[in-house]
Amino acid sequence: MTRLFAGTPFDRPPTCERCGKLEAECTCPPPARELTPPEKQTAKIAVEKRPKGKVATVIRGLKADANDLPALLTQLKNTCGAGGTIDGDVLEIQGDHADRVTKLLTKIGYKLPR
Ligand SMILES: [Zn+2]
Repeated sequence: MTRLFAGTPFDRPPTCERCGKLEAECTCPPPARELTPPEKQTAKIAVEKRPKGKVATVIRGLKADANDLPALLTQLKNTCGAGGTIDGDVLEIQGDHADRVTKLLTKIGYKLPR
């Protein structure tokens, strides 16, 4: 059977759009993620009780794929002088740091519900 569509892209091995090499040989760094500007996001800050009478400042509403949450967590920890964790899209700082978190997020540009 004659191949009518010889030379279509399906016949060629996939190549990198940037360097033109075969994808298997390509050493280009992965493309930078497209982050959403802080001005277009709303962060919700809540101080929540934890077992044993501890409290934590929780930040919700910032998607992990639209933000550099690890970098943000570092800023938050430095600002608050406290430990913190990321769980999916939720950032948590140990202790009641609502005021500092509010100031930092506002400074970065995130919108906060009034
Ligand atoms: Zn490449």
